[in-house]
Amino acid sequence: MSQPIRIAISGGGLAGASLIQALLKFPHLDVHIFESATAFKESGMAIGIARNALAALDLIGPSATQCLERAGAVPMRGVRFMLAQGEGRGNLIDEADDKAQGKRITSIVHRANFLQELLADVPEERMHASKKLDKTERTKDGSIIIHFTDGSTHECDILVGADGIHSTVRKLILGKNDPAASPRNTGTWIVMTLQPYARALTSLGEGSVDLADAREYSWIGDGSFILHNLLSDGQLVQFVIASHDKEAESSDKWNRVVKVEEIKKLYKDWPPHLNKAVNELLCDQPEQHGIYLWEHPPASTYVSGPICVIGDAAHATTPWQGSGGGMSIEDSLILSSLLGRVKTSTEAQKALKVYDQVRRPRTQRIVVSSRGTGVIMRGRGEETGLDIGKLREKLLPRWDFIIDFDNEKHLNEAIEILKVELKGEEMT
Ligand SMILES: Cc1cc2nc3c(=O)[nH]c(=O)nc-3n(C[C@H](O)[C@H](O)[C@H](O)COP(=O)(O)OP(=O)(O)OC[C@H]3O[C@@H](n4cnc5c(N)ncnc54)[C@H](O)[C@@H]3O)c2cc1C
Repeated sequence: MSQPIRIAISGGGLAGASLIQALLKFPHLDVHIFESATAFKESGMAIGIARNALAALDLIGPSATQCLERAGAVPMRGVRFMLAQGEGRGNLIDEADDKAQGKRITSIVHRANFLQELLADVPEERMHASKKLDKTERTKDGSIIIHFTDGSTHECDILVGADGIHSTVRKLILGKNDPAASPRNTGTWIVMTLQPYARALTSLGEGSVDLADAREYSWIGDGSFILHNLLSDGQLVQFVIASHDKEAESSDKWNRVVKVEEIKKLYKDWPPHLNKAVNELLCDQPEQHGIYLWEHPPASTYVSGPICVIGDAAHATTPWQGSGGGMSIEDSLILSSLLGRVKTSTEAQKALKVYDQVRRPRTQRIVVSSRGTGVIMRGRGEETGLDIGKLREKLLPRWDFIIDFDNEKHLNEAIEILKVELKGEEMT
């Protein structure tokens, strides 16, 4: 038996956690995960795990799927796109319905709970908090020495950067001066809140939030947007508003103070139950904390020798198609399956090359699609505007290539390419 392959994952978010969860089953891989924060935790609110990502979790294995269930994920019966302003306001634009389609749509889960479950089976000695990757160096024998900001080091054969949108590893791969090394501000801002079910029900009204008929609602207005859905076994409702700030495009702003007056003005002419919900859930204090939506320009590669990036470090996207986390899970499926099939660190580098080859086109297409979808969802699509007929024609099909994706085929293609790369060496 050859030496174990030493894999270090930098970053303990959804991408890093789903990768280590997927790699644990391979005894010949010695995997450690390093997180810069003092603990492995998620600060975000809810996340939708769409059909494609649910399928990827299933392929990673039953334990991955069970993590979602244990975290209290609520499967949505459907997703409804509604018109909030303009002619036909209040009407359904289109919907994806699990019964009509005979397929899962998306499951909404509390981020912290999901992350905790993904990491629950990872042996403690493989999890390292307060370890911020600073730089790396290569030894003569090809190993990587990771230097952390606290002065400590760790030696490995493969480094996976799962260090999010501000990725240090992405910069190591692309070079700091590559324009794609850093993310850009799209100018769109959002304000989010998680509310107890009872409070959201009082504000939004029956029919809009119903655990027995759990649905996600996306409301399209004239330059503004609302989304709401249910999570944590129905105990919580996520409520999100969004609008755009032209001046912030490509600026370095990450946060935005959103004054109540601005919120009230934006949602003044919205359907009464949403106007009421905005007033009650988001206008009880003078200002709200907004965040801008950023994304990565397309990288020329996700890999350099024994180093690669996955998740937001590779392809941070706007959340309009609820796909950033899903892409991380797909990345973990492909990368783990490839690494699980190699026997040496030289072969592992070939696995990384194959990962880049198969994952880059799909993930970069999603980033572009999501940005365009955001324009439509704010009622600013050139072709669609607030025209309910055009929206019906154009909006929902934008998800087809994302969620009706054959992960099994994708995985088999990756394995076939790896076989060729390994020049027909016997596969396990
Ligand atoms: C508002 C919003 C809503 C979204 N909704 C959805 C949705 O419904 N569905 C969906 O699929 N996706 C959604 N996404 C996208 C999704 O949240 C991300 O794609 C996903 O969380 C990325 O996970 P990650 O692990 O790659 O990055 P992160 O979650 O950012 O994790 C990176 C980790 O690396 C650590 N780190 C950073 N630098 C270092 C370093 N130098 N050394 C060590 N550790 C480091 C960080 O502390 C962090 O823990 C949404 C995004 C936003 C902004």
